[in-house]
Amino acid sequence: MQGFKIYPESKLEKNNKTYSLAQKDLKKYLLSDDGVSELTHANANKLRKFFPHLNPTTCGIKRSFGFGDRLGLATAGHVKTLKARDIFPVFAQQSIREMERTGRSMEDVLDDAMWGVFQAGYRGGYGADIDHVKKEEDVIKACECGYTMFTIDPSDYVNDRAKDIVSIYGKAIEHIIRCYNLIKKKTSAPFDFEASVDETATPTTPQAHRFIVEKLRKAGVNFTSLALRFIGDFEKGIDYIGDIEVFKEQFLAHAAICREFGGYKLSIHSGSDKFSIYPIISEMAHGVFHIKTAGTNWLEAVRLISHKDPALYRRMHELALYSFEKDRKSYHVTTDLSKVPALDKLSDEKLPELLNENNARQLMHITYGSILKDMREEIYKTLNLYEDEHYKMLCTHLGRHLSLAGI
Ligand code: ZN
Repeated sequence: MQGFKIYPESKLEKNNKTYSLAQKDLKKYLLSDDGVSELTHANANKLRKFFPHLNPTTCGIKRSFGFGDRLGLATAGHVKTLKARDIFPVFAQQSIREMERTGRSMEDVLDDAMWGVFQAGYRGGYGADIDHVKKEEDVIKACECGYTMFTIDPSDYVNDRAKDIVSIYGKAIEHIIRCYNLIKKKTSAPFDFEASVDETATPTTPQAHRFIVEKLRKAGVNFTSLALRFIGDFEKGIDYIGDIEVFKEQFLAHAAICREFGGYKLSIHSGSDKFSIYPIISEMAHGVFHIKTAGTNWLEAVRLISHKDPALYRRMHELALYSFEKDRKSYHVTTDLSKVPALDKLSDEKLPELLNENNARQLMHITYGSILKDMREEIYKTLNLYEDEHYKMLCTHLGRHLSLAGI
């Protein structure tokens, strides 16, 4: 077909018909012997039926890694990152909050990951995590969409001010149990289930960890991962803040409890750029864990734009400064904007270096919703134009994550 650049790895065959993904004028299409079609939800469903490996699947308690992709453009790059590494990837992983801010639906997130898997010719199986889901109505929706992993966030039911474990976590655990039973009722398919109490004011104690596991087990909740609030600060898009020796000690205690009970893995949220503790996590957890990243993928996209289209980067940065106070409210960050170098003092060549500075990283990290609302088309255009470079950057950056985690 004329003018179409076919992704050679994508080619699949069914009933003597071939299907492949192609690009023309920066837009992607599905090519088949029936002609050219758009990447619609209906076509995604058609393809899923023909090729079961394009559907997300469950992981169980194997080691896994979440590649949260806010833009829906990164999966093919993430596939390259995997190479021969022994890890179960969760390519579709977005929270309700992220979807609200990026203007994507639960279906969009699943479809984008699937097109990426198709494009890259990946056949190794991948997960789809509805992350930090709070409301029961969203749990039901995610079931209907075909998510294979449910991360239940009961933080609305955690009583941080209480003094004893039962009063702090009792209602939250009830909510997790309710959601689990809801999924059981809604779907006959297997699923991965994560209980996440990571968004509490104080770190989870070993006693609380035991209490949560015992309560969930007693109620018949077969959870595959458990996210705790670990000691120290897990701020967005930057390395761990805190005493690494103290973290090590605490994490070791939790990892030991996890092994003692067995049957689930610890899940580490806000895993983006936590390079200094990755080796500890890997060692203490005996190589079995789940790590979630999201923002760091977006920041690599921003870094690419700072290289390739400095003028666009400058506008994104200005808007980020303007939106920061409003956007920071739902994020845990200690960004000091006075430490972000002034844009007008920086030459274009110096712009990418901003993405190495923690305050500037967080500035761009948490304002993604406002930036996308205003400049979505230009951002997607630039990333599509420099697709190979984008994948290469993801591969290097996420590859560093995986290597440090011993994967
Ligand atoms: Zn979390």
